[in-house]
Amino acid sequence: MSEATDTIFSKIIRREIPADIVYEDDLALAFKDVNPQAPVHILVIPKKPLVKLADAESQDHALMGHLLLTVKRVAEQVGLSNGYRVVINNGDDGGQTVSHLHLHILGGRQMKWPPG
Ligand code: 5GP
Repeated sequence: MSEATDTIFSKIIRREIPADIVYEDDLALAFKDVNPQAPVHILVIPKKPLVKLADAESQDHALMGHLLLTVKRVAEQVGLSNGYRVVINNGDDGGQTVSHLHLHILGGRQMKWPPG
């Protein structure tokens, strides 16, 4: 299996390990982060096994847009009407720990800037 088909997130997509799934469609899955950093902390991932944002190519144009619109949809669904933060950690210096592209939705409290 490739690097991104053998991660914990691919196992969640395949229902091999449990997750608190809040949204799913043909291209994307959203589920609660197991170690939340805010009252609401949800991860949006593509079903396609992209390792990281830097690996996206022009053929992924529509998928990238779909992921952002999925973030918006899920944020509305869970009631984040006062705002939220969207984070993509990319690669080692970005602090990425799971080698499957994911967008963090963080909300339910005032976010600080700059991030650490
Ligand atoms: P990263 O640091 O790569 O940007 O974010 C990875 C995120 O995945 C972390 O916030 C971590 O808590 C979350 N995570 C890691 N393993 C699991 C898991 O098995 N289930 C869920 N729901 N989240 C996970």
